[in-house]
Amino acid sequence: MTFGQLGINEAITQALLENKISQPSDIQRKAIPHILKNETDLVSVAQTGTGKTAAFCLPILQTINPGLAEIQALVLVPTRELGQQVAREFFLFSKHMPRIFTECVYGGVPIDEHIQRLKRSTHVVVATPGRLLDLLERKALNLQNLKFVVLDEADEMMNMGFKTEIDKILNLCKNDVRKLLFTATMPADVTAVIRDYIRHDAVTIRINAEEFINQNIEHSYIIYNQGEKLDYLKAFLSERKDQRGILFCRTKTAAKRLSKQLAGFEVTADALHGNLNQEMRDKVMRGLRKGRISLLIATDIAARGIDVKELDYIIHYHLPEKSDQYTHRSGRTARAGKSGLSVCLIRTEDLTEIKTIESNLKIKFTEISVKLPNDTKHTHPIGIQINLGLIQGFTKNYLVEFLVEEAGLSTGDVKNIRVNDNSAYFEVSARYENQIFLNLRSYKVAHRNIKMTVVELERD
Ligand code: ADP
Ligand code: MG
Repeated sequence: MTFGQLGINEAITQALLENKISQPSDIQRKAIPHILKNETDLVSVAQTGTGKTAAFCLPILQTINPGLAEIQALVLVPTRELGQQVAREFFLFSKHMPRIFTECVYGGVPIDEHIQRLKRSTHVVVATPGRLLDLLERKALNLQNLKFVVLDEADEMMNMGFKTEIDKILNLCKNDVRKLLFTATMPADVTAVIRDYIRHDAVTIRINAEEFINQNIEHSYIIYNQGEKLDYLKAFLSERKDQRGILFCRTKTAAKRLSKQLAGFEVTADALHGNLNQEMRDKVMRGLRKGRISLLIATDIAARGIDVKELDYIIHYHLPEKSDQYTHRSGRTARAGKSGLSVCLIRTEDLTEIKTIESNLKIKFTEISVKLPNDTKHTHPIGIQINLGLIQGFTKNYLVEFLVEEAGLSTGDVKNIRVNDNSAYFEVSARYENQIFLNLRSYKVAHRNIKMTVVELERD
């Protein structure tokens, strides 16, 4: 089966080939002919990594009239990263067509810039729901000629609390606008949207679990000893220095902390979480794509839908809260027929949770082991003198808080603290020396660079 046989034209097929895409995936085989030919709506239930973007992007591109300089398709997405990815596919796959203009708009950046951009001729708008609504309220775009509205990752948009915005947007769309809804799961909010806005004769496509469960992912776990989780992580990463992956944490705080704990480590890591501004997020994502960063440390929300080619592994630093979250996380690897490893860092008592995921998703985990370096040589204590003291507001407690927050230490790591007016002294294990220096290197307190000196202590 080829894209041509599904009705996709020469210009698009050519662009696909240049991106090494020649065989349609299941969802594409089922969705493309309907979107091209049918007059009705589409509901598609399929897991991540099945090629949903192209499933709607290709037939939409082919239906757009490039000669009409009006918005003809609107794609709603949960996050800016996902929006940028979708916009990129519209751009890539229309390379050999008369110029199609796509704009991607999302919250967190000044709206004026988006208003200006939308004054130029635009055929496709990719948007997060909140920003789109803002733009509509300011009459920055006109949806009179809209043919398609796509709800991509509908379940995730609901998770993020966009139900009200989506209701408003769909109410503003004229009746003859065709709605294409893509979702991995069917929570009540998604069912409600289907009931309220999708035509009753809509086509439903399901790529069922058996078809989906990505056979190319190897599921595994590493059992770590209490207090040595970070060492096990580092050992795992060391064995895969030339590979790239994503590590999942449950919270932003954990993600931030872990990136500080990996400062100076042989595998370059950076964190992607909701507290970063847009510029920082873009920088992190570019770093991962270009290979400057090998490990992306992310929270579930931040990483949703992210598609980076050739990721070799996924690490569940914290187990996911639900089994379907496990699917979403692991779906970031083994994309498009490639193989990948998904590994959970667990304690023996977490094995029951592993069993639950196994039975829910009908998959099998295997235990893998890593060799911990026996580097006892770095565990002796060192003293560090630092140029922060009471005058700068650094009490004992505050100094510990500061080191925990900014250098990724744990409270218990910092010992024998003495604070003076303009300086302080504390002791930590020598293994944290680099970590502390790297994290505080360019840190300024009251316009002063932080200066530290290390004192070697007697081993006993
Ligand atoms: P989903 O939205 O279902 O999670 P994506 O649309 O992001 O999946 O696609 C996952 C990856 O697979 C992307 O890198 C995409 O370019 C690639 N891809 C999509 N369709 C095909 C195909 N038919 N053959 C090979 N790769 C594909
Ligand atoms: Mg997708």
